[in-house]
Amino acid sequence: MNQARPLAILGGTFDPIHHGHLRAAWEAAEALDAEVRMVPARTPPHRPAPVADASGRVALLRAALAGQDRLTIDTRELDRDGPSYTVDTLASLRADIGPDRPLVLLVGADAFVGLASWHRWRQLFEFAHVGVLTRPGVSHAPSGELADFTAGRRAERVHGPAGSVVDIAITPLDIAATAIREAFAAGHEPRFLLPSACFEDEALLAPYRALRG
Ligand code: ATP
Repeated sequence: MNQARPLAILGGTFDPIHHGHLRAAWEAAEALDAEVRMVPARTPPHRPAPVADASGRVALLRAALAGQDRLTIDTRELDRDGPSYTVDTLASLRADIGPDRPLVLLVGADAFVGLASWHRWRQLFEFAHVGVLTRPGVSHAPSGELADFTAGRRAERVHGPAGSVVDIAITPLDIAATAIREAFAAGHEPRFLLPSACFEDEALLAPYRALRG
């Protein structure tokens, strides 16, 4: 039977979007033959407030994604009040796409090892597969409860709507939004770590330039 094209999501603060996110999303799209949606977070439960507000981060995403249609933006977390728990996002996506289409939650290897601290984490696997993106310098052997829970769920490829853990090897790009914000704060111009389109409109990166003391 022909399985529907998977839908994958990459959530994040995207403060700001950079080539690490974009390559990871793109390579996952190709590896899974999936549609990938970037899902910007409004109120990340475990993190300090982002430098750019939601509309600013979305504007940067739009600029970054211009000219292709394989990666898109899904703003459902911005449209919801309160903290954006991934499990709620997956439930909402599952309601949209129906029970059969494969849904894949993409997470960096660093995020994956901490998955057991996420809200209702076991339920993530009822709604989606988890695609683990290899990130430079980070081993992603899970431990404890997560290791026990995922041991029997490892799969080579996505099959069926949800429930497995699939590794997705991506080109290691050691780029982090933190380092980009630090570069702006130091008065540098971190070109080529994020798309040049983000630099074309002066207003897009203004919140980061304002970090300069
Ligand atoms: P910060 O430095 O602010 O923590 P970040 O660059 O890690 O930010 P996030 O918005 O937290 O970006 O990341 C969103 C998702 O993208 C996470 O799953 C994260 O693991 C992944 N990711 C971030 N940077 C990379 C990268 N260079 N390569 C692959 N995946 C990445």
